[in-house]
Amino acid sequence: MKFICYTLAVVVSFLSACKKDSAPSLPGLVPVTISTPGGEAGYLYIDGKYTGILVPGTVSFSVGHHTIGVALKNTEIYLRKTITAAASTPVAFTTADKPAPKTWKALWIGLYETRGNTETGDCSTHFSTADLDAGYNFFTWSLKEHFEKYAYGTMKWEVERRDITVPVTLTKGSIGYTVEPAAIAALMPQIQPGVYDCVFVFWREKEGACSFPGNYFGLAWTNPMAEALKTGYVTVKFDPGADIAATINQYKINDPGVWVHEWLHTVGENFYQAKGLNLPEKAGGFSVHAAEVYHYSFPWMDWYRDFISGRVSNTGGSPAYLGIGPEALLGCTVREMALGNCR
Ligand SMILES: [Zn+2]
Repeated sequence: MKFICYTLAVVVSFLSACKKDSAPSLPGLVPVTISTPGGEAGYLYIDGKYTGILVPGTVSFSVGHHTIGVALKNTEIYLRKTITAAASTPVAFTTADKPAPKTWKALWIGLYETRGNTETGDCSTHFSTADLDAGYNFFTWSLKEHFEKYAYGTMKWEVERRDITVPVTLTKGSIGYTVEPAAIAALMPQIQPGVYDCVFVFWREKEGACSFPGNYFGLAWTNPMAEALKTGYVTVKFDPGADIAATINQYKINDPGVWVHEWLHTVGENFYQAKGLNLPEKAGGFSVHAAEVYHYSFPWMDWYRDFISGRVSNTGGSPAYLGIGPEALLGCTVREMALGNCR
């Protein structure tokens, strides 16, 4: 039903590289020459699936209709065309082939006061408006630098921010203190199915003698369609240390993935699998935690990029590449699925 944590870990590394392909003349296949704007290198997708091929170049297609896409490596945009494959008809991508990005809607909530019952009695932690601004900026920075880039511009996040001034009461369970969706929903009646793709809550773990430990940094609820509110739900439990700006800066430099990691749990454990996509297999119960299985290393940013762009090499298995991919990201989002208007 729920959760998972974001943790540090050490690991082995190595990275998948892209193969360049030649165009053999095989029965039923036609060679198609593909060019890109300015000759920029890009990852080729055919009918939503990454091919392992870099273009520009000549590629063999089965005769018929295809949606072809190129995720440009440096400019980080996705271009797409629908074609009818025929020999000697070149396909020239231009920047006009960039599809309109899909809008994803976030509700970001900073908690001014978080209250709980500890061994020494009830206490609260607090964030100031400046602290919450710093947390919010960390989040929107990640949307731009991670979510949208790893989607090659196929998603565009619109964020509504509504901080909560009244105390929010924590729940204590086996993993420590948590801000449960029901505690937030009770204060935010606008959270309804179909309104948001994901709700992100930012709250303070420690202040002076008041401490709400938990065996996690971020948490995500991994099956939005099974929740009453049918939305993704993420919390980040933040210890600002002596200087929140300095602490956030350290995360940005050394371990910047908390927001994208938790959001990926909301769509990468059940949501896209239910649409029939091939995502990485689960490790310890979670696809997002399978980075090491596929030979990625801390701080996992390449993993998140390949997971989102559908380019995780399946270590010789079939299909050859796993993950979400630009075509799926252009399809229905969580809030659209929640209304049952699409498949
Ligand atoms: Zn996790």
